[in-house]
Amino acid sequence: MDLQSDLPPLCVTCGVCCTDAFFRYSCVTPEESARIHSLGFPVEREDGREIFSHPCTRLCGASCTVYEQRPATCREFRCTTLSALEEGAIDRPEADRRVSLLRAAVQAVRQLLPKEEKIWALRARLYADPAAAPQTRLALLSMDILADRYFKLKGRRFFS
Ligand code: SF4
Ligand code: SF4
Repeated sequence: MDLQSDLPPLCVTCGVCCTDAFFRYSCVTPEESARIHSLGFPVEREDGREIFSHPCTRLCGASCTVYEQRPATCREFRCTTLSALEEGAIDRPEADRRVSLLRAAVQAVRQLLPKEEKIWALRARLYADPAAAPQTRLALLSMDILADRYFKLKGRRFFS
């Protein structure tokens, strides 16, 4: 029996790139605009593009509730851990270990946040004020170091 193929896709156990931890939004391509609108995504216009904000409203826990119909930008996204797993450079237990570390690090940051503040907004706030919230800054830094090591997107600025 192939145990790996019996496991859910890695992203269905993670979902961190759909939260407010990395990205402020995802883009909707013009080709997919009608389909994404019909799925009820809260699409907005920004700088001439269509986007939907993060945390994505289609995320429930760690899972995408429209996984089979998810937008192309989501389907095409690969963090370095997902790429490494697909390329056979790491096995599933190692990928699961990394996801577990990342989710714990995100949770550590979230516990220190005002309820309404997004992590991407916190990052901007703390960069703008180096003296603010040292404990929160440490938790965020730990999360960002982990993300940079295991979850960044090659050749692209990860946080937006
Ligand atoms: S951070 Fe990586 S493993 Fe997690 S949901 Fe995004 S692409 Fe998948
Ligand atoms: S549609 Fe699904 S995969 Fe895309 S950001 Fe939302 S929860 Fe994540």
